[in-house]
Amino acid sequence: MSDFPALMLDEDAGKVRASIRRLSEADLPAGDVLVRIDYSTLNYKDGLILNGLGRLVRTYPHVPGIDFAGTVEASDSAAYKPGDKVLLTGWRVGETHWGGFAAKARVKADWLVPLPEGLTARRAMAIGTAGFTAMLAINALEDHGLRPANGGDVLVTGAAGGLGSIAVVLLSKLGYAVAASTGRASQHDYLRGLGATSLIDRAEIGVAPPKPLLSERWSGVVDSVGGTTLANCVASLRMRAAVASCGNAGGVEFSGTVLPFLLRGASILGIDSVMCPLPRRLEAWKRLTELIPGELLDSLTEEARLSDLPELGGKILKGEIRGRVVVDVN
Ligand code: NDP
Repeated sequence: MSDFPALMLDEDAGKVRASIRRLSEADLPAGDVLVRIDYSTLNYKDGLILNGLGRLVRTYPHVPGIDFAGTVEASDSAAYKPGDKVLLTGWRVGETHWGGFAAKARVKADWLVPLPEGLTARRAMAIGTAGFTAMLAINALEDHGLRPANGGDVLVTGAAGGLGSIAVVLLSKLGYAVAASTGRASQHDYLRGLGATSLIDRAEIGVAPPKPLLSERWSGVVDSVGGTTLANCVASLRMRAAVASCGNAGGVEFSGTVLPFLLRGASILGIDSVMCPLPRRLEAWKRLTELIPGELLDSLTEEARLSDLPELGGKILKGEIRGRVVVDVN
C-alpha cells in the first residue's frame, strides 16, 4: 500500500478534532522499525487523548493509539527483520510519538516486544495495555507474597472495564477467590463468567473510610479506580496485604491515615506499564499467553474501526465500555 489510513487529531482553538486521513510513510516520525499494524485497541488513556484531556499530547497533528500489534515491514535494527510479528505498549507512544490508530507506525526497536508464540495480533491486542497492566499488578502482588493458599478474597475494582476484566480472568485462573467490584449490576453475570466468585457494589467501597481501620477483608487488591476507592481498600487490607494501584478511573486524590501501614503492614504497590523494563514485559506476556484462554478472551472483546473511535473515546471515559475493544485499523 502506498498510502494508508490513520486517525489524526488536530487542535483548533483549544479543541481537539479527529478525522481519518491518508498518510504516506514519509509522514511518519523517525524510528528504526516500520510496522504494518493489524490491530490497535481502546484504553482509558486513549479516551483522554481522543478528547484532548490530561495534557498527554503536546504537539498536533497527532496520531493517537497507545498500543498496537502487527508485522515488521522494514527494519534498521538487528533485533527485528521484515516479517517478524511484534507488539507495542507504552513508552508514551500515542502520546509523544505517533501511535497505533493507523495502518502503519515507525518506532524504536527498543519499544517492541516479539509477539508471543501462541498469540494472534488480535488476541494480543484484546489483552493490550490494559491486560498487560493487570498482569504486572498481579505479578507485583505475588512478588509481595500473595498466594491462593493464603486464603481470603482478592478484590478487583472497576472490574467490568478492560484492566478489571483481564485481572478477574487472570486471578481466577491462578486459583484466587475473586471479589469483583462494579458499578454496573447489569454486568454481574458477565463477571461471574470471567471467574468472579463474589460481587461488590462499587458504592460500598467507593466512600472514604469512616475509620482509619476497617474490618480486614482483602488479601490483595487490583485497583483501577483510585481516589476514595483506593483509600477504602487500604483501610480494609488483611495483615501484610497490598493494593496494586493501577488506575484513576474514579479519581487521582486519596487520603487516609498511616495506621494501616503501621498496624497491619499494609502496602500500596505502584504499577507503571509505560516505562516497564523489557525483561518484565517478556515475563508478563509469557504468563498472559499461558494463562488466558483464547475463547474467554474473545468473549470479553469487541471489535471497532478507526471511524468508531471518537464515539468510543467518549464512552470509555464515562465507564460505559465493557471488557476490551480491539481496533481493526485497516
Ligand atoms: P476502563 O474504562 O475499561 O475501565 C475502568 C472501569 O472503572 C470502568 O469500566 C468502571 O468499571 C470503573 N469506573 C469508571 N468510572 C468510575 C468512577 N467514576 N468511579 C468508580 N469506578 C469507575 O479503563 P481501562 O481498563 O483501560 O483502564 C482502567 C484504569 O487503569 C484507568 O485509570 C487507566 O488510566 C489505568 N491504566 C493504568 C496503566 C498503568 O500503567 N498504570 C495502564 C493501563 C490503564 P465498573 O463499571 O465495573 O464499575
